[in-house]
Amino acid sequence: MSKFLNPKYESLKVYTPGEQPQDKKYIKLNTNESPYPPSEKVLQTVNREVVSSLNLYPDNEAVALKDSIAQLYGVKRENVFVSNGSDDILNFAFMAFCGEGCEAVFPDITYGFYTVFADLHKVKYTQIPLKEDFTIDIEQYKNTGKTIFIANPNAPTGLTLTLSQIEEILNANPDNVVVIDEAYVDFGAESCTALTDKYKNLLVVQTFSKSRSLAGARLGFAIADRELIEDLDRIKYSTNPYSINRMTMQAGVASIESNDYYIKNCEEIIKTRQYTTDELKKLGFTCTDSLANFIFAKKEGVSGEYIYQSLKEKGVLIRHFTGERICDYNRITVGKREEMDALLTALKEII
Ligand SMILES: *Cc1c(COP(=O)(O)O)cnc(C)c1O
Repeated sequence: MSKFLNPKYESLKVYTPGEQPQDKKYIKLNTNESPYPPSEKVLQTVNREVVSSLNLYPDNEAVALKDSIAQLYGVKRENVFVSNGSDDILNFAFMAFCGEGCEAVFPDITYGFYTVFADLHKVKYTQIPLKEDFTIDIEQYKNTGKTIFIANPNAPTGLTLTLSQIEEILNANPDNVVVIDEAYVDFGAESCTALTDKYKNLLVVQTFSKSRSLAGARLGFAIADRELIEDLDRIKYSTNPYSINRMTMQAGVASIESNDYYIKNCEEIIKTRQYTTDELKKLGFTCTDSLANFIFAKKEGVSGEYIYQSLKEKGVLIRHFTGERICDYNRITVGKREEMDALLTALKEII
């Protein structure tokens, strides 16, 4: 820390991303990336021609990209917001919808970035404990008077709320924004994008990083009532109007155009998730009923830290968390079948 840093950032606890080791080749099951490459159409689209136009700024309105997203989700262009990864959008949501007199609320066990954004913007927040079985107690999200952030499926548990539970929360908080973070929704859960027509307080955030194999391109989008989108635009145009580069913009459109390819990949991941969960259970693991592209698992009598470290020594990287309630669990990304077999073989040697 230099002596020049604004004191208000001195105590900031930054987000710790999953390891991205560059030294050694691991079977990488720690950051929920897709094991599949982007579609052939994406590979062909981001070509020499796109690169040769990098001397020009991209379309700050992102018209082509917004239109393809709008079409896919049956909304209008004015209902779509796009930016540099969904983390960017979540950050904007904290800036736009939280602050003095408007606190934030989210589960105690959820995406680690929510507390970081809240701290960054000096937003007060409440963390509501998940129930013993890691499900969300929706009764505690009624009449909160606060901006609500819920990942659905939740991370790292993979557990979901139903659309009717989300509607109960929306109806019980008409004067507050409810942000539903659907980073993992394409792996078997139900999206609430269609509800944005009916609820002016619903902001649905999604990403191209997981199901659409574009984590490295940095692209996220949100769907909501026009006025919420305008609020996000106000922040975007006050920070970085060109937050999506030309290559990513093209990749995003091409990705939507090859939707069938991604649906097929998601189906494959769902199958592999089921297979791996069954095999883990045979080895004595307990797993949550995850509808995401990861499995959240523990083995009675074996510490989560030990499993994580031993797997790492064997070249398999998974994600370990240190939180009190979840330190015996690990979050394992669902990769290709052969990667999961390598994981299972390594686990058998360890336990
Ligand atoms: C991965 C993830 C994100 C961030 O995705 P990017 O679009 O890559 O920034 C947001 N929310 C949750 C719950 C995630 O797991």
